[in-house]
Amino acid sequence: MTSDAAPARPDATDEVVDLCRDLLRIDTTNTGDNDTSVGERRAAEYVAEKLAEVGVDAEIHESAPGRANLVARIPGTEPGRDALLVHGHLDVVPADPDEWSVHPFSGEIRDGYLWGRGAIDMKDFDAMVLAVVRDWQRTGVRPRRDVVLAFTADEEAGSDYGAHFLTRRHRDLFDGCTEAIGEVGGFSYSVDEQRRLYLIETAEKGIDWLRLHARGRPGHGSMVHDDNAVTALAEAVARIGRHRFPVVMTDTVRAFLAEVADVLGIEIDPDDPETAIAKLGPIANIIGATIRNTANPTRLAAGYKDNVIPGRATATIDCRSLPGQSEELERQLRELVGPDIAIEYVQRQPALETTFDGDLVARMSEALRAEDPGAHPVPYMLSGGTDAKAFSQLGIRCFGFAPLRLPADLNFSGLFHGIDERVPLDGLQFGVRVLDRFLRTC
Ligand SMILES: [Zn+2]
Repeated sequence: MTSDAAPARPDATDEVVDLCRDLLRIDTTNTGDNDTSVGERRAAEYVAEKLAEVGVDAEIHESAPGRANLVARIPGTEPGRDALLVHGHLDVVPADPDEWSVHPFSGEIRDGYLWGRGAIDMKDFDAMVLAVVRDWQRTGVRPRRDVVLAFTADEEAGSDYGAHFLTRRHRDLFDGCTEAIGEVGGFSYSVDEQRRLYLIETAEKGIDWLRLHARGRPGHGSMVHDDNAVTALAEAVARIGRHRFPVVMTDTVRAFLAEVADVLGIEIDPDDPETAIAKLGPIANIIGATIRNTANPTRLAAGYKDNVIPGRATATIDCRSLPGQSEELERQLRELVGPDIAIEYVQRQPALETTFDGDLVARMSEALRAEDPGAHPVPYMLSGGTDAKAFSQLGIRCFGFAPLRLPADLNFSGLFHGIDERVPLDGLQFGVRVLDRFLRTC
């Protein structure tokens, strides 16, 4: 409730920086464990307060003590129309202050950036949404269709206490929602001074986390032993870790590459998309992971004493499948590990893919072009997963559209979960203008 220095009616682009800063100063670290995760309740209460100040009622739904999710509905002027869901998560991944140039929860402004854990993932978008809605409420603007706002917990640990909880237990809150926007899309990639691609997420890979179990004969570490669970597991893990899965082109990646080829004026060899992707610099990492299934070993566990051969050993593999490829990936993995290793899925969430067409896409593209005449909106596939996985289970068509104009030299993808995460202040304000235009017209 501070207003002493603020103008009587602050503009959304003025306010967004303060809102984002306030959110960054609330440590919402999600460790993946309820006992050590913090701050989501405080952040949700902050959002509720900012909405209440302008007359928007919001409900907070806790999935477990402290794991708070907030949902509110802004009624549209054309009640017969389907509703739009706008969602953002409030939690962040941990940050070690010793590794950062500024304290990750200080919300410092330096060199034209607002710094802090969550600055781009994704308190920036949370703040943009709040800024736009507050501005509307103060100036009497109403959207055409109902806009449902969801600020969620637990996205960074699989969304069980967040979006999945909401869609499981409170699906009525999303009545009428047919389309949604959230992270990770709408950000710019500079081609040159004049032209920027804006990557709108229309697809995301599936999550296929699995555990390998090897069994063997326990025994004494000093003896000849030909049935060692650790050896069997290590061989299987190494085979998976070194395997390159075949390239599979999806509609989304094909459309993305066609647009890139057009804008850059280059030919892309359909049999060798990797050469072209490698030239995309900072976004090559993201795009490169969307032309094939991937499987990265991440954890190993075996044994309890230096001279005892254990009877079992386990490994976790973080696999990500392309749309329609989850079964095929499972088949490929079984072939790689052989018949003696058991595969157990610990997370299996399907990939998503929608088309880059229709009114909503047209409104996104128009809003971007209105604020940046050099904007070229393109569809792309995210290699990671988001809350869209949960919302799509309600039949909602999900897009990643959290608009940001970025400086050409910023390694944006490196900032996600990275050290010195920060958002450019002018990019944040650009995002507010685009979001405002988009939400007014869609
Ligand atoms: Zn995120």
